[in-house]
Amino acid sequence: MYDALVIGGGPVGSYIARGLSSKGHTVGVLEKSPEGKKKICCTGIISKHCYQSYLADKDLILKKGRSAKVYSPSGTLLGLNHKEDQAYIIDRISLDSAMAADAGDAGVEYLHNCTARNLEITKDHVRLDYQKGSQLRTSEAKTVIIACGFNSGLFKKTGISKPKNYTIGAQIEVHHRDVEEIEIYTGKHIAPGFFGWLVPLDNKKALVGLMSKYTPNKYLKGFLYLLKEKGKIDVNGDTPAYRGITLQPPKRTYGERFIVVGDAAGQVKPLTGGGIYFGLVCADIAVNNIDNALKEGDLRSVKLAAYEKEWKIKLNKELRICRLAHGIYSRLNNRQLDRIFDISKDSGIVDEIITSNELEFDFHSRIIRKAIAFPTIAKLLSRGIAQ
Ligand SMILES: Cc1cc2nc3c(=O)[nH]c(=O)nc-3n(C[C@H](O)[C@H](O)[C@H](O)COP(=O)(O)OP(=O)(O)OC[C@H]3O[C@@H](n4cnc5c(N)ncnc54)[C@H](O)[C@@H]3O)c2cc1C
Repeated sequence: MYDALVIGGGPVGSYIARGLSSKGHTVGVLEKSPEGKKKICCTGIISKHCYQSYLADKDLILKKGRSAKVYSPSGTLLGLNHKEDQAYIIDRISLDSAMAADAGDAGVEYLHNCTARNLEITKDHVRLDYQKGSQLRTSEAKTVIIACGFNSGLFKKTGISKPKNYTIGAQIEVHHRDVEEIEIYTGKHIAPGFFGWLVPLDNKKALVGLMSKYTPNKYLKGFLYLLKEKGKIDVNGDTPAYRGITLQPPKRTYGERFIVVGDAAGQVKPLTGGGIYFGLVCADIAVNNIDNALKEGDLRSVKLAAYEKEWKIKLNKELRICRLAHGIYSRLNNRQLDRIFDISKDSGIVDEIITSNELEFDFHSRIIRKAIAFPTIAKLLSRGIAQ
């Protein structure tokens, strides 16, 4: 029997597995993908702070960025230019492999090609049924960490509900034509409630993607057409990938002998769908709490509640403000969005925010507060709320 079984060998699951193993616990990771390279639907943009805090010992950076071009629905351009690099684009496939290699070096056992199917929580252990090929197998552990990303379907057994507030991310690799900065496109016709992105990497490769709860394939097709018409990209025969993103945590992220972490727990920025940083922040909290609970031999729900309390102290206010802002943004029509771009451009709001200390890549609520302090923006947004 393992001390801890982690379901999901993504960045969050592998980080937790390594952390627990380094503290002397026996840890297994159940991962449904085969060992080695897998196709992952993620752009891999993280803050410099995230990189330095969690990944500095790894060679993952494809490109650094200090500027971006943001387009309004009708094409007004807002340039975001910072003096220093703000964003690092990392090789997302290598991130998963590097995190898993670290965990393996720390003694974690990986069960690849194994899909968790059923979770049975008993008084003194957890029974996990998983499928490997056509065989159904079972493994046991004192505790389970659910880090399997979006919508695992396992949650029924744990009483954790399926996410209601979610979106679907769609992304494809293309060739770009001399695009130098990250470009963001807004508007209901691009990605209702969200935005589309064109992220140039080196070697002429670029990632084009967007988020939309409904028909993301249709919007991606339209977006690719638009970028081709603008002469920005050529398609290269790649097929699009799609993945769900949970935008709101479930009611509870812990229970008897288990906790939920990362995308599975909705620890994701609601305005952008970025979840690597918040997932890793919560993974640290998870490691400390599970280590403590294992050492004390107390894995009861009331003990593991401390994990949720701690991560919510750190992130809940941020998540709530950003969800609210996302709700308002989603209700704005293209005309209102255009107007906000015009005001922002003419008034110098953007430059003011960028040069102030409020700009923080990972915490958007400070930028939101700063933006709504401008009466013209606040008035426009309140019209969005009233709709
Ligand atoms: C299009 C798109 C672009 C994105 N871009 C960014 C970005 O630029 N920056 C950013 O920070 N975030 C981004 N994200 C979000 C980011 O990818 C996630 O937040 C991050 O991957 C969360 O990590 P995780 O370990 O919690 O989950 P995941 O990375 O989803 O890992 C879960 C793992 O569990 C495995 N698994 C699932 N079910 C089972 C099962 N039943 N049994 C066994 N294994 C299972 C999966 O194979 C997977 O390896 C993007 C997401 C999308 C969809």
